Amino acid sequence: MDGHSIPSMKEALLQEGLPDGKVRCLTCERRCALAPGEKGFCRTRVNREGKIYTLVYGLIASLSANPIEKKPLFHFFPGSLALTAGTWGCNFACPWCQNWEISKRDPEEGYGHGYIAPAEFVALANRYHCQGTSISFNEPTLLLEWALDVFRLARKEGLYNTFVTNGYMTREALEAIVEAGLDAANVDIKGEREAVRRYCGADVEVVWRNCRLLVEQGVHLEVTTLVIPGVNDSERTLRGIAERIYTELGPEVPWHLTRYFPAYEFHTPPTPVSTLEWAHALAKEVGLAFVYLGNVPDHPLENTYCPRCGALLIERHGFSIAHCQLEDGRCPDCGRRIPLRM
Ligand code: SF4
Repeated sequence: MDGHSIPSMKEALLQEGLPDGKVRCLTCERRCALAPGEKGFCRTRVNREGKIYTLVYGLIASLSANPIEKKPLFHFFPGSLALTAGTWGCNFACPWCQNWEISKRDPEEGYGHGYIAPAEFVALANRYHCQGTSISFNEPTLLLEWALDVFRLARKEGLYNTFVTNGYMTREALEAIVEAGLDAANVDIKGEREAVRRYCGADVEVVWRNCRLLVEQGVHLEVTTLVIPGVNDSERTLRGIAERIYTELGPEVPWHLTRYFPAYEFHTPPTPVSTLEWAHALAKEVGLAFVYLGNVPDHPLENTYCPRCGALLIERHGFSIAHCQLEDGRCPDCGRRIPLRM
C-alpha cells in the first residue's frame, strides 16, 4: 500500500529506520518506534511496509474563521481573523481535554470536513477575509506535513501563520515549521514535571525547551496554563511557572491563566475565579508584564493595562476588542512601549 490514491495519506517527513522493519517517528518527542502495521500513540501515523505515513495530511476535523483572541493571542494582530483548522488525535493523554471529541478520536473513524488541499485552505482564508491561518483545535504538530505546505503558501499571500500547541514537537519539526513561516504560537505549559508526566504522559522540560527555541528564533510567543484544582493550582506550581517565564522567556511574554471546566474523564468542579485572580496577582508580583484570565467572559483581567502606569490600553469583551488606544505601539499616557505585533 503506497497511499498515493488517498490524498490524506502521505509519507511522513521525519522518520528513521530501525532494525526488523521498525521505524521511529521523529515528529514529536514521544519518538514512537512503530512495528510494521502499527500506529503511533497519536493514531495519526502508521508504519506501512517499513515507512511511516501520516494519515491526516489535510484531513480536517474542524474548520472556522476565528478571532485571533480566541487562540488566545492577545499581542498579535489584535482584532484579526485567522482561518483555523485541526485534525483528529493527540500525542498527550490529558484526562481533562477540552477538545476531546476530536483529540481522542482515531482519524480513520471521523470524517469532519474531509480533505482540504493547502491551496484550497489558503484560498478559503482569503475568501473569508482572514488575515492569517491557525492550526489548532487538536495538536497542530500532528498536521506537520500539511502545515508546512499551508504556511509556505500563506506567507507568499501575505497571511500570517500561527500554532496553538502543547509544544511537544521535536527540534527538527519545530525548525521546519519556523522555516516554513510560523509567525506566532501559543504554547500550553500544563504544570510541574511530575503532574505533566502523571496526567499527560509527557516531559514538560521539552515544552520549555521549545518555548525557548521559539523566542530565540523570533516567533511571537504567548503561554497558556489551564488552571485545574488539585493538579496545578498550588502556589509552588504557579509561582514556579511565572518565574520560569520571566527568566527563560522574558517578562513581556504574555501568560494566559485559563479557567478549567469538567470535560472528558475529569470531573473536578470548575476552577474558582478567585483562584485565577490570586494567580494573576502572584504572576504580577513575580514581574510578568502581561497576565490575562481566560474562559471568564467580561472579566476586567481580560484587558491589557500599561505595566508602568496602569492605563487601560485594550478593552476586550470575550473575543472581541471593544477599544484599543495605543499610539504608535506605546501607552498614550506614559509612553511605555507595548510589545504587540501588527
Ligand atoms: S507524532 Fe508523536 S505520538 Fe504520533 S507517532 Fe509520531 S512520535 Fe508517536
